[in-house]
Amino acid sequence: MATRRLYYDDAFLKEFTARVMHCEVLPPDLNAGITGTVWGLILDRTAFYPTSGGQPNDLGKIGDANVLDVRDEGETILHVVDRKPSDPEVNCCIDWPRRFDHMQQHTGQHLLSAMFQERFGLPTVSFHMGNEMCTIDLRGPEPADEILEGAERAANRVVFENRPVNVRYGTADQLSELGVRKDVERDGILRAIEIEGADLQPCGGTHVKSTGQIGVVLVRRCSRVRQDWRVEFVCGGRAERVARHDFHLVRQTAEKLACAQEDVVSAASRAVAERDANFKTVRALLQRLAEAEAAVALQATPPGPQGVRILSRVFEGIPADYLGFFGTAFAKSEKTIALLATAEDGQLLFAQDPSAGKDMNGLLKRVLEEAGGKGGGTRDFARGRLNDGASAKRALSLAEKLLG
Ligand SMILES: [Zn+2]
Repeated sequence: MATRRLYYDDAFLKEFTARVMHCEVLPPDLNAGITGTVWGLILDRTAFYPTSGGQPNDLGKIGDANVLDVRDEGETILHVVDRKPSDPEVNCCIDWPRRFDHMQQHTGQHLLSAMFQERFGLPTVSFHMGNEMCTIDLRGPEPADEILEGAERAANRVVFENRPVNVRYGTADQLSELGVRKDVERDGILRAIEIEGADLQPCGGTHVKSTGQIGVVLVRRCSRVRQDWRVEFVCGGRAERVARHDFHLVRQTAEKLACAQEDVVSAASRAVAERDANFKTVRALLQRLAEAEAAVALQATPPGPQGVRILSRVFEGIPADYLGFFGTAFAKSEKTIALLATAEDGQLLFAQDPSAGKDMNGLLKRVLEEAGGKGGGTRDFARGRLNDGASAKRALSLAEKLLG
């Protein structure tokens, strides 16, 4: 009871009638995203393509049932549908935009793989068609940009020549004589797809009639995957969408940078260079400001017991770097200790001149133990962060108390 595969000889068949030969309730299939009750149908003939050879399954209608999945089960093809057809004679209809997209990608893949192989000696070891992108994995040395562009250009030349794409049948030996790209060790009659004058390879998939219908082949990124090179590409309608999307990105970037589209790269480089220069300037100014403020604070802090000047201060609205600059500048003088914090995020910094004779790391640990937080450092310089920024004031009071 083998299913006749109508798509083998007519990949452009969109509607057909068939007879339901078998119908059964299937268990839920979480991997396929099927949670409710579904039915498995076997028809006497079908134009629905099952997932195989890198090409995803078709969708569409069988009677009034929606097709959710199509599986190749060897002799037969199983159609997973969301309801049981009421009549054994069914009118069927393929989701054509989806299928035609798959055909553009699949024929485009044959052509692109042929160009990588012919011109650059890079064989394709696998093909995947995703919802957005298609990929082939090439084996061999890393393809440089010139090779990626060269294969793309060569493939598009064949597209522009609008060469016929033919289905060929023959035994492995016959196909081998015709120069098939990949030898198959299988008996009986095999199916192969020929792009006239460019490629012949065994394939059970659906293909466009001539290369012009591929539209265009657009090669995108290339990245390493295990020992192979994964090349992303899109063809036809996908290439149109991707190119349109890229153009929007360039246009929006140019608007942001207030420059012409041709100038985005130089304008972006300038913006990054300016940002880096500004960062350096701001840091230098921050350090000078901290040193000036620390000098003023030192004047205003009278010596306490044993002649040690202890400054305790919670800062608001300053970057975290500022604490370090300020603490270092303040604790440079004889017998000084700075206990500093930021109000917003509870950063702590304890610094002393060695002559003050305390242990900043030990002090910080004790404060954090009580107030909650993380940090550490040396005897003279320790940093930490409170779990709760709002407790900065309390943490500094505690530190003062501990210093006695
Ligand atoms: Zn194929």
